[in-house]
Amino acid sequence: MAEIQLRNLSKRWGDFVGVHDFDLTIADQEFLVLLGPSGCGKTTTMRMIAGLEDASGGDILVDGVRVNDFDPKDRDVAMVFQSYALYPNMDVYENIRFPLKVRKSDPAEHDERVRRAAEMVELTEFLHRRPAELSGGQRQRVALARAIVRRPNVFLMDEPLSNLDAKLRVSTRAQIKNLSHELKVTTVYVTHDQIEAMTLADRVVVMFKGVVQQVATPTEIYDRPANTFVASFIGNPAMNLLEGQLKDGVFTTTDVSIPGIKGPNGPITLGFRAEDASLAETGQITAPIYSLELLGDATMITVRINGALVSIKADKSFRAEIGDMITGAMPADICHLFDAESGERLD
Ligand code: ATP
Repeated sequence: MAEIQLRNLSKRWGDFVGVHDFDLTIADQEFLVLLGPSGCGKTTTMRMIAGLEDASGGDILVDGVRVNDFDPKDRDVAMVFQSYALYPNMDVYENIRFPLKVRKSDPAEHDERVRRAAEMVELTEFLHRRPAELSGGQRQRVALARAIVRRPNVFLMDEPLSNLDAKLRVSTRAQIKNLSHELKVTTVYVTHDQIEAMTLADRVVVMFKGVVQQVATPTEIYDRPANTFVASFIGNPAMNLLEGQLKDGVFTTTDVSIPGIKGPNGPITLGFRAEDASLAETGQITAPIYSLELLGDATMITVRINGALVSIKADKSFRAEIGDMITGAMPADICHLFDAESGERLD
């Protein structure tokens, strides 16, 4: 069992607030991903959970016990970092065994536990190699095995895939998901990569400038972003956002008029996703093509509206030239509404 409660957890350095009142309960065995751009406070939050960084305010509870003053070694968490931090002079076997030796667990069990952990990350045949004789992906798997071997209640992972090439990242990602499920361990995983977050997480925490923006399942984050920051951070391409005016149910801005929008009269930010819009004979946007990208399974068309780039996903067979006029259909029911000033979701 490991339910983690973060209660108004904060980190300040002088006047600078790195993490602001983080308040969340992470369920036992949950896979929670902290997602956000560089400097948003993800790593600091994780380091506070690990005990590597003191909190400036708030509490951390594991299964109801306040652990703020516990040493890292007494917190029953295992960390996996972006840099693998392996011991170069030890072979894979000794690297994996290291946490068991430090923790003075029963030596009679070591061999079996090391071999079992190595097997789980498919490293059995490399047990006698040194880190220098391994590929990046294999080294990262040694780091994973070293975390697994301790059988902790909590895994903390900080960008563990970022040093791997694209293909290895996909396969190691699947392996991490599988391991966390199999080992039934509460996992907190830090990344700035939204694909990693969306594929791994039970719930995603989107952070920006030390402040939690939204906590929700990947589907909810994508379908109902809480504000314009989340809307513009999640999705590839990000959600189209148009600033305009709403008057009696009609949204207008340059070259765009969308009727049937329910919301208060006045300035408003309207969002829609490229794949929810389509090309049509008659529609709500008419503009010249700014760029055209062939994606294989679709064609991404970009137009410029009021200075903003707006993407519409078209059929893969669509062909046109830059500068040709297109008409896009984005009915009211696919649109998201945000407050023009605060950026908060309105519907
Ligand atoms: P990245 O993805 O780049 O690792 P992050 O979201 O993990 O970013 P953190 O490392 O948590 O960000 O840092 C959050 C903020 O706190 C950053 O603006 C960083 O500059 C600041 N910060 C981190 N450590 C310190 C420190 N020791 N003293 C002052 N400011 C710090």
